[in-house]
Amino acid sequence: MMSDSFDVVVIGGGPAGYPAAIRAAQNKLSVACIDEWKNYDGSYAFGGTCLNAGCIPSKALLESSELVHRAQHEFRAHGISLGEVSFDVVAMQKRKAGIVRQSTQGILALFKSAGVTPLQGHGRLLPGLRVEFTAHDGTRRTLQAKHIILASGSQPMELRSAPFDGQHVVDSWGALEFDAVPKRLGVIGAGVIGLELGSVWRRLGAEVVVLEALPDFLPMADGQVSREALRHFKKLGLEIRLGAKVTGAKVENDEVAVSFTDAKGEQSLTVDKLVVAIGRRPFTANLLAEGTGVEIDERGFIKVDDHCRTAADRVWAVGDCVRGPMLAHKGKEEGVAVADAVAGLYAEVNYKVIPSVIYTAPEIAWVGLTEEQVKASGRAYKVGNFPFAASGRARAMEAPAGFCKVVAAVDDDEILGVHVIGPMAGELIAEAVLAMEYSGSSEDLQRTIHAHPTLSEALHEAALAADKRAIDCLNK
Ligand code: FAD
Ligand code: AMP
Repeated sequence: MMSDSFDVVVIGGGPAGYPAAIRAAQNKLSVACIDEWKNYDGSYAFGGTCLNAGCIPSKALLESSELVHRAQHEFRAHGISLGEVSFDVVAMQKRKAGIVRQSTQGILALFKSAGVTPLQGHGRLLPGLRVEFTAHDGTRRTLQAKHIILASGSQPMELRSAPFDGQHVVDSWGALEFDAVPKRLGVIGAGVIGLELGSVWRRLGAEVVVLEALPDFLPMADGQVSREALRHFKKLGLEIRLGAKVTGAKVENDEVAVSFTDAKGEQSLTVDKLVVAIGRRPFTANLLAEGTGVEIDERGFIKVDDHCRTAADRVWAVGDCVRGPMLAHKGKEEGVAVADAVAGLYAEVNYKVIPSVIYTAPEIAWVGLTEEQVKASGRAYKVGNFPFAASGRARAMEAPAGFCKVVAAVDDDEILGVHVIGPMAGELIAEAVLAMEYSGSSEDLQRTIHAHPTLSEALHEAALAADKRAIDCLNK
């Protein structure tokens, strides 16, 4: 066994771990980043869930399927006729695979340029700031570090009554790999992932039924946004059954019989493929040897304080394996902050200002508090709403659905939450995030010049509407 020492060893090369490694190297520290991700084709790749099986491949297929949908349903309004629109799922998947490959190989290039040592294989934390690294060929080394950053991520939760078989009952990764459109698709869970995957396959022609145990739709979003979203998903043809708790799934004769209970009692549904998208759980299998001092909480997350310090001195943890929203950008901020902290630099993650985006059509994005949360807090507030139907740019884009909503405090005008459902919502929210990062007021947004005609004017007008001073819509 040979031994190596580094200033920082990062275990996990997903969107939390690889930025931590790059920033630590930028801070002139010697860094190794260990990752064991293996793709279906047997190749190893950095990038974790996000690049290989999550954010990137899902957005690639959302884009392709949205283009098909628009060609079928929207082009005529522009005076464009294509005849019957045909598409090739295998070609779509090939495009997606190329994007994934380019992204994951890009990490290796970034590591090389920053001077990070990539180590592909398994990492296990040992006591005494040591890491046992087992390469994919089975060879082992013990690494000594001054700081260790755990970024082991998460994995899909399995439903005991509907176990994955990789063929008919699949997780979100499996649902991104179908090489043909299933005729009937069942999705368990109307969360972000379930809705994005359901949208992809619905747009490509599948009959999609989404079963959601909770009685409310998208309860984490602003109520007005959830109601608007539900209307549009129904229009797309997604059948969303709320209050439907799945109790079993049986695979027989190349189909899946799904049983669930709802207000009417026992129900059943037969589909060709079933996607289980009921959430993710932290992944820490074989990560910690005895005696490291790192603690795990009752839900399986690595316990950390507000600065991502674990219970063990100079061992840190970031990303999906610790508390907080399971989002790539949240992990990235944590990873970078820790890499700065270990170099003695100022570092803080503003957990109050983490944007959420659902990449459906219309797109949904928000940051800060929902109107319901502000109401419950008892703080006096005002709301400004601007419909995209009143935006010249949105109308020109044939995308007039949805609205921008600004919730601000009455006392000091602070922006408390911004909610967007409509075209490019995920891009528009960035301005609200920046405003909130600087504790901006609705007046700050009101006094900022927005180019015309742009979608961003909708946010400007929503801020104006909070004071009943909107120009381009009625001030109700
Ligand atoms: P991961 O990305 O899971 O990476 C952890 C890495 O560590 C993996 O490569 C794993 O193999 C490796 N690893 C674990 N243990 C060890 C070990 N002991 N030794 C060596 N290597 C190890 N988030 C967004 O923000 N936007 C989106 O649009 C979005 N879309 C998503 C779509 C889908 C379908 C899914 C499933 C997720 C999506 N997410 C999205 C969530 C996002 O992918 C995760 O929040 C993010 O990947 C978490 O990053 P991470 O680095 O903490 O963990
Ligand atoms: P998320 O955690 O955002 O990925 O969403 C997962 C969704 O799956 C949540 O809204 C859960 O309520 C839902 N869910 C979990 N278990 C079941 C089940 N057995 N049947 C139907 N929906 C479920």
